[in-house]
Amino acid sequence: MTRFNALELANPGVRKLKPYQAGKPITELERELGISGIVKLASNENPLGLSDKVKAALRDELDDLARYPDANGYYLKTKLADRLRVQASQITLGNGSNDVLEILARTFVGAEHEVIFSQHAFVVYPLVTQAIGATPVAVPAVDYGHDLDAMAAAITERTRMVFIANPNNPTGTFLTAEDLHAFVAKVPEHVIVVLDEAYNEYVPEKLRADSVGWLAEFPNLVVSRTFSKAYGLAGLRAGYAVSSEEIADLLNRIRQPFNMNSLSLAAATAVLDDQDYLQQSVAVNDAGMDQLIAFCEQQKLNYIPSRGNFLTIEFGPKSGEIYEQLLHKGVIVRPVAGYELPNHLRVSIGLPHENDAFIKAMKELL
Ligand SMILES: *Cc1c(COP(=O)(O)O)cnc(C)c1O
Repeated sequence: MTRFNALELANPGVRKLKPYQAGKPITELERELGISGIVKLASNENPLGLSDKVKAALRDELDDLARYPDANGYYLKTKLADRLRVQASQITLGNGSNDVLEILARTFVGAEHEVIFSQHAFVVYPLVTQAIGATPVAVPAVDYGHDLDAMAAAITERTRMVFIANPNNPTGTFLTAEDLHAFVAKVPEHVIVVLDEAYNEYVPEKLRADSVGWLAEFPNLVVSRTFSKAYGLAGLRAGYAVSSEEIADLLNRIRQPFNMNSLSLAAATAVLDDQDYLQQSVAVNDAGMDQLIAFCEQQKLNYIPSRGNFLTIEFGPKSGEIYEQLLHKGVIVRPVAGYELPNHLRVSIGLPHENDAFIKAMKELL
């Protein structure tokens, strides 16, 4: 008798998968080291914590939690549609935008297809591609960012999807609206272009692409956004895709009807009305970015210029060691060796005192 082997029974794509490596939770480090007052700058979360309007909306929702959520997310979609000037029927809600990215891949990509993304791009793209058994095509980056010409050149008959993160995580690199538009215009219609704008709110308004406006021009374009970053709802899981109605209809066929729960629906709907919170998130981020950049320049450390809420800094071959030493000083940052960036660490922007804690710990180490 041979031993039961679950691996052999798993789908071929799943066998080779390595699970997503999340940032180390504060509670885990507390348990391991027996220390408190830990500063986590590892998952690009909003350091402001939940908006007060969201807290109130969550409390209001508690009494109804024995009921199923609204499967259509009526209030959230209506509000989003109004903001984005699209029809509610063009929106697909997700349990975080990660969910939306997976739904997109499962809707359009089969094992016979290729999926294109950039080297150093968000790890969810290869994950969802491989899970389906499709072929991932990682196009070498230029200056850590997307090489759009090379990505266009990589498209074949078998290509079914292209993922672009703008700004990209974990590099923070940013594509201009002009370059992006020219790229999408070049992509043939048998390829779905997924434009992941998780950090859109941190981009100065005058630099933002009118990506949702482009949907009228490009039927094969999908824009994904999230409430996890500038809106501060990472723990609640809320994201969405905007697309043509036709694509949204397909996505909604495989979307779990209750993928956004009642609390995340209420929170996302409420936070859209909290413009002060959003402005404060961006202001805190801008100030923190200046703080981290000043530290890098003072210490003559290279960093990748970022339009996100994080800065990826080059520490050389000792990056892994520095990560561990920072942990012992109660500061959690994010190793990015898994993104082919073994000499860098990604530091999320925190409140001023949190950034200071990182800077102080680094100065002791350097
Ligand atoms: C954080 C992030 C997301 C959003 O993840 P959620 O599932 O919405 O929390 C999506 N794309 C990129 C590039 C990200 O960095």
